[in-house]
Amino acid sequence: MEKTVFYEAVRDRLLRYAKIDTQSDPKSAAIPTTAKQFDLARVLRDELTAIGASDVYLDPDKCVVYAKLPSTLPDGGGRPVGFIAHLDTAPDAPGAHVRPWVLEDYDGGDIVLNEAENIVMRAADFPNLQSYVGQDLVLTDGTTLLGGDDKAAIAAIMTMAEHYLKHPDLPHGPVSLAFTPDEEVGGLARDLDLNRFGADAAYTLDGDWLGYYEDETFNASAARLEIRGRSVHTGTAKGIMLNAADIACEFASMLPRFEKPQYTEGREGFFHVTTIHGTCEHAFVELIVRDHDAERFSQRESYLRTCEAALAAKYGADAVSLSITETYRSMKEVVDRYPFLIENLTAAIRMARLTPRSVAFRGGTDGSALSHRGLPCPNLSAGYENAHGRFEYVPIRSMEKNVEILLHLCSLFAEMP
Ligand SMILES: [Zn+2]
Repeated sequence: MEKTVFYEAVRDRLLRYAKIDTQSDPKSAAIPTTAKQFDLARVLRDELTAIGASDVYLDPDKCVVYAKLPSTLPDGGGRPVGFIAHLDTAPDAPGAHVRPWVLEDYDGGDIVLNEAENIVMRAADFPNLQSYVGQDLVLTDGTTLLGGDDKAAIAAIMTMAEHYLKHPDLPHGPVSLAFTPDEEVGGLARDLDLNRFGADAAYTLDGDWLGYYEDETFNASAARLEIRGRSVHTGTAKGIMLNAADIACEFASMLPRFEKPQYTEGREGFFHVTTIHGTCEHAFVELIVRDHDAERFSQRESYLRTCEAALAAKYGADAVSLSITETYRSMKEVVDRYPFLIENLTAAIRMARLTPRSVAFRGGTDGSALSHRGLPCPNLSAGYENAHGRFEYVPIRSMEKNVEILLHLCSLFAEMP
């Protein structure tokens, strides 16, 4: 596989960043959830300063890194654009003592990740490996995740920035960069200061499969049904007892049987009971609601209200109370108002000689929340594979391609008024 001028830069960056433990913690209430995310944030701040980026700033409280590349156009023009990636790695697999290594010219067979512990990534278990025969892969030693999610994106963004700063003759408009903590634990880039960020349109870089992008995510909410029962001695309970645990099960059985994660795909939404907890006296049911379509999503929420009303009619208004809280909304309704975001992105992917592909993402991204905060923000794949586990890997070519895509994107934005 022919290497581009970006090969060494993206490879060395990923190897360096991956070794820094930045695992976030869903049980922590701190901001950021783990202080060690600052270890990578400081490295990026220093590196951005060293390569000559402008307005480099690490928020000492929120752990967000900011930087800018000023316009190189004669009048300082071009449409501003921003790129965002996350610092943290997932809590799902060990994230400390990551020992990344490079396998050159992958032959399509099984990969021994760890000879001593006999950990092998079998080609038969991971068909995605066949797309990367002949390429160089960054791998783990089989005992930790790699953290290519999302450090492959950080490596590509940093390399794009370095390339522009080394070649001030290349035309581009104002480019904003930000690296944010706690994406993996639902941070939703809450602490990104949009004023400091500067750009009014941006892309997150995250996700697997090179050349994929997302302009649609789930609408998401969390619901909780609280049930107050009436406990009396079972010997004299007839006509008096209200068993809250029974009512919890009754509520769960009212949910459409096949509209659950295990029976749905594509653009099909669902209800998902995450907890049923109960005694005769008190019970609660927690569930999440997901749908791409805003209309169907609100119908799902109304359906829960209908269930609540039916149970209240049967057992008394005091017996049940339902609360629903929004988690995030689909970015689509916002992103659709700025068609140039996807037009430029798909054009840039094609200019990098890849085929743009899109799926309705069955989850949320930081960009879903940012879009509704006023920063329309679709997502471009970071190009990692098998994220959140010990078999994670990143093809170096995917990072090189992402640098190319970013450069093409910036040049397309430079041509905009
Ligand atoms: Zn990620």
